[in-house]
Amino acid sequence: MHLTGRCHCGNIAFDLEWPEGSPRIPARACGCTFCVKHGGVWTSHPRATLAVSVQDRAYLSAYDFATRTATFHVCTRCGVVPIVTSEIDGHVYAVVNVNALEHVDPARFDRAAANFEGEAVDSRLSRRERNWIADVRFEGAGG
Ligand SMILES: [Zn+2]
Repeated sequence: MHLTGRCHCGNIAFDLEWPEGSPRIPARACGCTFCVKHGGVWTSHPRATLAVSVQDRAYLSAYDFATRTATFHVCTRCGVVPIVTSEIDGHVYAVVNVNALEHVDPARFDRAAANFEGEAVDSRLSRRERNWIADVRFEGAGG
């Protein structure tokens, strides 16, 4: 299943190749302090493939906090956060913002709350290695 998403102004866009045979899309409403303020709801599949393209990196902010193990990619023109990445042992993993997806029937979403506050860094990282998108590519202008 081919899914697409973008921030509101289109500066950050992504193509998500979702594995066949996985019709349901988990949608985890994250309870961390950042996601509560942003209404962040995320999805990932360990066998999905993600290609991210950024038109103008001048409007791209990489924000992290607390354990500094996750990077929130914020479009500073429209304020949307389409993706989060985590670099683990030199490998980039990602989740995408369910609310940034376009042309997806919302009935496919399995909505659930998720709260990882207080989780130890080790288990946090191994959970991401198991669950996050492991094939992540950034395309377009370098820098
Ligand atoms: Zn934008």
